[in-house]
Amino acid sequence: MPVEETYLKTFYIETFGCQMNAHDSEKVVGTLLREGYSQVVDEADAGLILYNTCSIRDKAEQKVFHRLNEYKRMQGEGKKFAVLGCVAQQEGNKIFERAPYVSLVAGSASYRNLPEMLARLEAGETRITGLDDRQTDETFDTEFTARTNPHRGYITIIEGCDKFCSYCVVPYTRGKERSRTSASVLAEAQRIAQMGFTEIQLLGQNVNSYLDPSSKRSFAELLAAVGEVNGIKRVRFTTSHPRDFTKDIVDAIDAVPTLCDHVHLPVQSGSTDVLRAMQRDYTRDWYLERIAWTKAARRDISLTSDIIVGFPGETDRDFEDTITLLETVGYDAIYGFKYSPRPNTPAIHMHDSIPEDVKVARLAILNARQREIQRENYGRHLDQTVEVMVEHGANSRGQITGRSTQNKTVNFMCDSTPPPGSYIDVRITQVFPSSLVGEAISVPTVPSPALAAQQALNARVPVVH
Ligand code: SAM
Ligand code: SF4
Repeated sequence: MPVEETYLKTFYIETFGCQMNAHDSEKVVGTLLREGYSQVVDEADAGLILYNTCSIRDKAEQKVFHRLNEYKRMQGEGKKFAVLGCVAQQEGNKIFERAPYVSLVAGSASYRNLPEMLARLEAGETRITGLDDRQTDETFDTEFTARTNPHRGYITIIEGCDKFCSYCVVPYTRGKERSRTSASVLAEAQRIAQMGFTEIQLLGQNVNSYLDPSSKRSFAELLAAVGEVNGIKRVRFTTSHPRDFTKDIVDAIDAVPTLCDHVHLPVQSGSTDVLRAMQRDYTRDWYLERIAWTKAARRDISLTSDIIVGFPGETDRDFEDTITLLETVGYDAIYGFKYSPRPNTPAIHMHDSIPEDVKVARLAILNARQREIQRENYGRHLDQTVEVMVEHGANSRGQITGRSTQNKTVNFMCDSTPPPGSYIDVRITQVFPSSLVGEAISVPTVPSPALAAQQALNARVPVVH
């Protein structure tokens, strides 16, 4: 193969955004590797640069065009450029106008057509788009996924979203909601287990509305079935939507030991008036009923949430409702965001926008109150023994880092150096508002040789940024 052709078949990928985006990139990388490309760590060495974008908040579009401007200086080197993800879908052909050196623009609903788009790119086409698939029923199922997380295997079970919350771009950028068959999800879970992974995370914008298109299996049924896959020790899922969160999910966690003691159930606001304006389709009381089910479980299920402050029209009273909800639930963690107006969403036309300084002040109050709640929650773990899955080797203080089933970070001392992916019991000796510290009190289970082989492979295939 001539040198130039080898160069053209190298790629560099840059990824922004949520876990869904990071996992999309794992599948895009897998597809490129299968098509004969090889991944490089330095953009200077790549014939093809891919940029997987996110537009959920802030001035995402400006940031993307700013980054594309930086690519401009590299266009003379014979490189090709592709823009993927939510900003690609949202801005579409405008990207070619503002950055003419870009040759491919595709949203996530079109990724299953990537092999065909890559062939056109190689044939020299310069205006390739994958933008018209948002109404598809197809999902991007692929056996070729470059798994870059060394100890957790991600599986998308549902793509797109039909909820149309009034502030959110996702339904416009990721297209309509479509579930994979549970047969294909379970086959992927088994492949992951055979590779040696013991932890799986099921992904989707709203995993609770999962419905197998053929067998009509529900999310709770699928969750339990994944938890029964031989070799799997931990199953997580994100994100849950309160509207579709059913009690059988809590029952499944109680019944299947491998399902983790953690539910991420974003509330967004504690005020029913704001929830109505957000088109969340539930009230404060509806949400608290789901929390009550979860707290009534036999297992100690940790609760976390997403919260938006400063939504148009949010009064001091509404914000106070969010603070009291925080106190009532007693979350173990929250992701707090200032409302950010997004293009094409109904909320952008709403009156009574909240001044930036008020949003900043509310977010600070929210985070300070939450920290106090966590200080108390984490304090309860003192002297307890928790099982930890090791994620990283020793830090500068000689502590190994891992996570409990509740997804809490645990830093601990250990006589040996347990490898990532091993499990070990840790006695908690110190507590902080967002981490636990302890001492190993058992011999670590050693991860399977298959996982070690996968980790060695990951070391050669650079981690997606
Ligand atoms: N599908 C999930 C749900 O409904 O909870 C969340 C998806 S979104 C990628 C993650 C979080 O971003 C949301 O829960 C919300 O808190 C936040 N978010 C989405 N749009 C936002 C906006 N316009 N401004 C501020 N935060 C936003
Ligand atoms: Fe966005 Fe709402 Fe869908 Fe979540 S459920 S992705 S917040 S529209």
